[in-house]
Amino acid sequence: RPVEVDGPKRVLLAAPRGYCAGVDRAVIAVEKALEQYGAPVYVRKQIVHNVHVVSELEKQGAIFVDEVDEVPPGSHIVFSAHGVSPAVVQGAADRDLQAIDATCPLVTKVHREAVRFAKQDYRILLIGHAGHEEVEGTMGHAPERTILVNDPDEADRIEVPETDALIWLSQTTLSVDETMETVRRLRARFPHLQDPPSDDICYATQNRQVAIKKVAPEADLVIVVGSANSSNSVRLVEVALEYGAKAAYRVDYASEIKQEWFEGVATVGVTSGASVPEVLVEQVLADLRDAGFDAVSEVKTAEEDLQFSLPKELRRDAQGNV
Ligand code: SF4
Repeated sequence: RPVEVDGPKRVLLAAPRGYCAGVDRAVIAVEKALEQYGAPVYVRKQIVHNVHVVSELEKQGAIFVDEVDEVPPGSHIVFSAHGVSPAVVQGAADRDLQAIDATCPLVTKVHREAVRFAKQDYRILLIGHAGHEEVEGTMGHAPERTILVNDPDEADRIEVPETDALIWLSQTTLSVDETMETVRRLRARFPHLQDPPSDDICYATQNRQVAIKKVAPEADLVIVVGSANSSNSVRLVEVALEYGAKAAYRVDYASEIKQEWFEGVATVGVTSGASVPEVLVEQVLADLRDAGFDAVSEVKTAEEDLQFSLPKELRRDAQGNV
C-alpha cells in the first residue's frame, strides 16, 4: 500500500491496548469447552465483540446463537463475557442446557451491586447504552428498580420518583469523561445521588483511554483496531478526537485502512480495543511499515498483569467431578 508523505514518518503505539483479562478468559473458555466436550459448543451472542475472534472460533466448531431457544436441548452453551440476565440463565436451565458462564468477573461485580442496591430499595440509575448486551444483562438483575441513562443529555430528562434513594452504576466500557459528565448532571438534579462502592468502568477500559489520551495530541491520525459493536473500541476513537488527534478511524482489519487518510500525516497513533487479538495490530503495523512508517515507539501508561481463573464449570469438569 503506497502512502505518499514527505519527511519523517513515525508510529506511536499505545499501551496498554488489546486483550483484557475478561476477554482472554472468555475466548479460552470457548476453546477449552470445545476441547473438553467436543464440537459443537454453542455460544450465546458473540463471545466478545470482535469479528475475527468469532470467525476463528466458528472454524473450531463454536456455533453462535442469539438466544438459548435456538440451542438443541442437552447441549453445552457458553454465556458471553458481557453477561446475561437471570432470565437467560433460567431459560437455559429450562432447556436442560449445560451452561458455562464466561461473564467477565468485573461485569458480575456490577450485577451483584445491582441486586444488592435493589434489595435495599434504591432506584438504580444505570449509565450505559440501550441495547448493549451488558446493559441488558445488568438491567435484568434488577428490572423493576433500574432506569437507564444513555448519556449526559438524557441525565437532564429522566424522571425519577422524588422520594427514592438513588445510586448510579455503569456499563464497564464507557468513556470515563462522558460518564463523569453524566453523573455531574444527574447530581445537579438529584443531590442525594450516591456513588457506587467502586468503579464500574473497568481497569482495561480506563487504561486504554489513558494511553490514547497521551498519544492523541501528537497524532495526525489515530487508527483504532476493533469492531463496530465493541463499545470500548468505539470510545477510543471518540477519546482520541477529544484529546487532539487530527483524525481517528476504527478498523477491523488492516485492509480497511484508506489511502486518503494519510494525506499530510507524519505521526500515526495506533491502539486496539479490549477484545482485539494482537495479531490484528501487527498487520496494521506491517502495512504502516510498508508505507514508510517504520519508526515505532510504544507509549506506555500502565502495566497490566490481571488474570482471571476459568469459569467454574470448566474447572469442575476438567477435574472429572461432574
Ligand atoms: Fe471485563 Fe473490562 Fe474486559 Fe469487559 S473490557 S471483559 S469488563 S476486563
